Amino acid sequence: MPEAVAMYVDSHCHLTFPELHSQIDAIRAAMASAQVDRALCICTTLEEFEDVHGLAMRFDNFWASAGVHPDNEDVREPSVDDLVELASRPRVVAIGETGLDYFRLGDRSLADMEWQRERFRVHIRAARRSGLPLVIHTRSASDDTLAILREEGQGEVCGVFHCFTETQAVARAALELGFHISFSGILTFRNAADLREVAAEVPLDRCLIETDSPYLAPVPFRGKTNQPAYVPQVAAQLAEIKGVSVDEVARQTSRNFEALFKV
Ligand SMILES: [Zn+2]
Ligand SMILES: [Zn+2]
Repeated sequence: MPEAVAMYVDSHCHLTFPELHSQIDAIRAAMASAQVDRALCICTTLEEFEDVHGLAMRFDNFWASAGVHPDNEDVREPSVDDLVELASRPRVVAIGETGLDYFRLGDRSLADMEWQRERFRVHIRAARRSGLPLVIHTRSASDDTLAILREEGQGEVCGVFHCFTETQAVARAALELGFHISFSGILTFRNAADLREVAAEVPLDRCLIETDSPYLAPVPFRGKTNQPAYVPQVAAQLAEIKGVSVDEVARQTSRNFEALFKV
């Protein structure tokens, strides 16, 4: 009997962003043709949550997260109770995306970013209370991200460092905390040799793949609007790095997704 076709999961996409939301039928058709059978729709503001959740309620191969992205200012600030309440809704499988992003400080100092650290703490407390994994975004802020995760998480939270672009040392620290590491289209970029070296060291049973659509389309779609149907390009790059078949990457990252998000 021939082995079933290996299917891919996009563990992180933003399908409610305007570029994609109006195209949802075409996006789903492209996913089906590309053997991408599931996706996790990521929430970035409380204002956006109902739309994200609506996708997960409408389509049985989509799930939703609940959280407020660290880059979002002038949006409703979540309380632990807000997030725990949203986490209890059907088909919500993660808290996030959350974390720290010091990349766009502008003329602010790190001290000025206390609001971001406090917001991250709120998400970690909500993850502990709800028992859901965290989807973590960290950029130019890995020391504080890890320190706060250790302090607030108390070893009782798990999750994923998404769209990973950090060093080997950060990857090791994340793995030691029990977290998974998710690679995006950046892994396929010509200038990402360092990241490919990091990926070579992350055990395949702790890897996820994602698009972070609509951003960061992998080669050969770089510069285009990204979509979940492109996640096999990330898998192909990871397979090349690991010296395994792309089917093995598809199967293992799908199993990892199921285990982490309990779907
Ligand atoms: Zn992110
Ligand atoms: Zn994202």
